[in-house]
Amino acid sequence: MALVVQKYGGTSVGSIDRIRNVARRCLESQRKGNDVVVIVSAMSGETNRLLGLAHQVTALPDAREMDAIAATGEQVSAALTALAIQELGGKARSLLGHQVKILTDGAFTKARIKTIEGSRIFSTLKDGEIAVVAGFQGANERGDITTLGRGGSDTSAVAVAAAIGADACEIYTDVDGVYTTDPNICPSAKKIARISFEEMLELASLGAKVLQIRSVEIAMKYNVPIHVRSSFSEIEGTWVTGEDKALEQVVVAGVAYDKNEARVSIIGMSDKPTAVADLFGSIAEKNISVDMIIQNVSRGAEDRTDITFTVPKTDLAHAKPEIEAIAKGNLGAKEVRYDDDVVKVSIVGLGMRSHAGIAAKMFRLLASEGIAIQAISTSEIKVSCLVPAKYTELAVRALHDGFGLGDK
Ligand code: ADP
Ligand code: ASP
Ligand code: MG
Repeated sequence: MALVVQKYGGTSVGSIDRIRNVARRCLESQRKGNDVVVIVSAMSGETNRLLGLAHQVTALPDAREMDAIAATGEQVSAALTALAIQELGGKARSLLGHQVKILTDGAFTKARIKTIEGSRIFSTLKDGEIAVVAGFQGANERGDITTLGRGGSDTSAVAVAAAIGADACEIYTDVDGVYTTDPNICPSAKKIARISFEEMLELASLGAKVLQIRSVEIAMKYNVPIHVRSSFSEIEGTWVTGEDKALEQVVVAGVAYDKNEARVSIIGMSDKPTAVADLFGSIAEKNISVDMIIQNVSRGAEDRTDITFTVPKTDLAHAKPEIEAIAKGNLGAKEVRYDDDVVKVSIVGLGMRSHAGIAAKMFRLLASEGIAIQAISTSEIKVSCLVPAKYTELAVRALHDGFGLGDK
């Protein structure tokens, strides 16, 4: 007998029929003798609809209220799933984040889990019931509802699996595994049988939304193997696990893209030693993370510098007043420019550590499609380029096929 956590994403619970399908799968697993904990997302499109309602009321909604609204999506699908299991003759109970005692910090809309108290899940299982936990949500120390960021139900699932010591964590989604790139935009994408936590972490942080980045961080920290697979078939998916020798051979394992980037360029700001620290310090205070950064000497003025960086598109509206204030105030900048019509395309692979020329090949492949690069960032196992958004598919396909991922 095993303790299994199964997470079903938005598409998998996207209609009443699909919720019935989920209920059948949970019961099947229970009949095999397993204790089953299910984590569900909101029905597909529901979170966007809810956030859209808030934006109809105000352009810059208060984050605490956003979470109170967004969390309802998962409340509905958890209760519907519990009902569907009961309707098939099974026993099930829905549990909300605060009932499971998923305690988070207070960063509304992007909260991080601090602790999970498993006792309510265990008592539910002890009664022979399937525990259906609402994904994406938790509560802070004051009891206010928080959410874990878009795609956060993956993180709920892995964190619950780690907290209760589950034997398996299965992530059921609308594709049958992790692919060499998004199969929905690149027809030659191939399913990967096994991928390391480290590579998956990079792919997720670079936009491969099949797993939320925090879920992979937690899986890596607590060594929870994840099985990503389809809720519409029985076929084996992708195992995300610790590194092994065979995995090390791959130079480029995957290509990712992220449209949630916005470029900010500050022109002609002061180059005093504290300038950069002041600028990024004030952005960090707003809990906004900066990604790619380029700095160069401003044309025609020796004591002036230009700096370009990217922030998440979804944070740009919040960051703008801060950036304007410091750039034009303290730093005496001439101008601040914004462009949110950009995409970051990235290649990821453990083998890059020991192979030279990978970045150069990436730039050549983009150049041969006539795609101009606006910013670059690298780490040991990835290279990212910022390019105009209209080239998303072209760039992804050129890199994917250029690095031989399509013809394995
Ligand atoms: P869910 O609602 O089940 O959480 P998501 O939409 O969040 O599903 O994630 C699944 C989607 O991730 C796929 O439909 C696919 O378009 C996208 N995706 C991006 N990169 C990859 C990749 N490398 N492998 C598989 N899917 C990917
Ligand atoms: N419903 C949330 C979202 O759309 C969480 C999730 O699906 O994982 O982001
Ligand atoms: Mg998701």
